[in-house]
Parts: sequence; C-alpha cells; structure tokens
Amino acid sequence: MTGRIVLLLIVLAAVAAYTMRGELALRVYARAAQANMVADLLSELPDGLHVALCGAGSPFPDPQRSGPCLAIIAGKQLLLVDAGTGGARNLQRMGVPTGRVAAVLLTHFHSDHIDGLGELAMLRWVGDANTTPLPVLGPEGVELVVQGFNQAYRLDAGYRTAHHGMAVAPPKGAGMRADTFTLPADGTSVTVWEKEGLRVVAFSVDHTPASPAVGYRFDYGGRSVVVSGDTKKNANVATQAEGADLLVHGALAAQLVGILNQAATATNQTNLAKITHDVPDYHTTPVEAAGIAAASGVKALLYYHIVPSLILPGLEAAFLQGVDDAYDGEVVLSRDGTFASLPGSSDEIQFSELL
Ligand SMILES: [Zn+2]
Ligand SMILES: [Zn+2]
Repeated sequence: MTGRIVLLLIVLAAVAAYTMRGELALRVYARAAQANMVADLLSELPDGLHVALCGAGSPFPDPQRSGPCLAIIAGKQLLLVDAGTGGARNLQRMGVPTGRVAAVLLTHFHSDHIDGLGELAMLRWVGDANTTPLPVLGPEGVELVVQGFNQAYRLDAGYRTAHHGMAVAPPKGAGMRADTFTLPADGTSVTVWEKEGLRVVAFSVDHTPASPAVGYRFDYGGRSVVVSGDTKKNANVATQAEGADLLVHGALAAQLVGILNQAATATNQTNLAKITHDVPDYHTTPVEAAGIAAASGVKALLYYHIVPSLILPGLEAAFLQGVDDAYDGEVVLSRDGTFASLPGSSDEIQFSELL
C-alpha cells in the first residue's frame, strides 16, 4: 500500500514538473543568462600560456570538430590562429570574450581557415565597442582576404551602428585591417608580435600549392607552444619546436581517407574520388607528427585539424595507430573545447575539456 502511494506521488510530481516545464526552464534560463554574461575565462586563468581549441577540425563535417581555430592566451592577451567556421561561436561557449581578441594570425588562405573571419570581426567589434579594426596578420595575400571580407560586411556594419548607436558599434572599429609580414626563408623565422612579454614568430611550412603557408611559435613567461598550420611533414616545424613545451600539429589519417577514396570510387563519385586522392599529399600523418614531436623533444603533442571526421568512438584509436611507437610524450587528440594550460610558475601541461 505504502509503495503504491509513493509511486503515485512520484507520478504526480512528474506530471506537475512536466506541466510547468516552461516555467521551470525560464527560471533556470534567467540564472544561466546572468552567469554567461559575466563569464570571462581570461580573468580566471593563472598567469601563463594557454591554448583553447575553438575549432579542432578541417573541411570534413564532424559534429565535435569545427573549422580550424586556436585561441592563444598569454597573460591577459588573446590571439587567434586562424578563424574557421564556428570558431567565434565556440569562443563564446567557452567563456572567452570575443571583444578581447587582439589579433588573428593566419597560417594560409585555404577557405576552412578564413571562413569564420567575418563573424569573428563583427562579434569582436560590438563585443567590446572596439574603435580599431581587427588586426589580421599573415604572409602576402592577407590584404586580399581582408579587403574581400570588409567589402562583404560593409552593409552589415552600417546597420549595426544605425541600430545600436555609435557608442556600442563605433564605425571606426568595424571590419579588419591586414598586417602583412614577409615570408621567412626556409629554416629561419620572423618575429610578428612582441608585446607584454609575448613573442610570436612565424616560419615557413610546405602546403603546396597553397602557398605561402606558415606555422607559429609562441613564447611567454618561460613557456612555449608551436603551431604547425597545414603542412606536409616539414623539417622547419621540428627545428622551431626544439625546446618547446607543446607542439600543436595538424594531422590526416591516410588509411581513413583511403577508405573514403575507395567508397567514392566504388559509387562513381568522381569529384570526391579525386579530392580524397589529392588531400593526403599536403598534410602530415599522425605518426609523422609524432616523429616530429620526438625529434624536437617537446613535452606533449596535441593533434588538431583532424582529417577526416572521426564520427565513431573507435575511430579515435584508429587515428592514433602507431603513434605510441613514434613518441614517448603525452599525446592528446583534440576536439572543440580542448584546453591546454601551461602555468608560468611550473613546467606542467594540464589538459582539460571546456565544452
Ligand atoms: Zn586546412
Ligand atoms: Zn590548408
């Protein structure tokens, strides 16, 4: 009898909760909205160098991996490496204030690395009433990219100022400004950013025919991170990563792309068959990247720009096959929200997931 009463009460409570679901959701939403409005990852972090994956993927659609986008946080400075689709949205989901982006560093001009730039520049502008356009650094060609985005977003910028006013959307801060640097010769690097203890150098990589293409090294407070950009296996990455803490390297699993190629061929998808045949020749495999990590002696290797989509859990293990034999350090396969923290006061690297 008592059991039946308890069951009845549970059912009644469930019915009441279901009937009032809109009301309950509104209360939770109001609380969450306040928390989200003041979220600021930058102010919560210890002084040091930190990397947040705002996009861990490639042009291949992967629900866990948006277009390539890396947030580099050095002390109170926030820089991005590339701005792929979904990057700006993931920054907001991670509590990284888009209004604080000081600059974007482009590795090259393939569409997947630039197709989130327009959205990012707009959110950065109105996010903090910025009065100067977003600096976009890159080798020669960056001015053409920036010019095109500025033209495409000109009408939108006018609407924003007209609707929200000069104080919120000051016209001077709309859009982007190209900042071109000379491509460094093979085996050398060029300093592209030096501010408040953060030094960033660019170095050439090989992503032919997408040329120029560069990688970046970040040094801050005794900690260092190297980002490969898109490249086939390249000795410059190993040279630049010597003595660094963390190597963030793009990777393409040739055997998985090979399966896609066979599927495209078998189903007479001639365009896809050609593309899946071509892409492995200008990327690095996971085992090759592990070899670079071993040669340079970095403490940890973080894979990003993951090709192809890893849409089944077991595929992550397939992607990493052979990596253990090539490199002894810590290996992490990123997804959107993967976070690497390198506090200035230690030689630790702490990995976590923000999404
Ligand atoms: Zn790419
Ligand atoms: Zn590329």
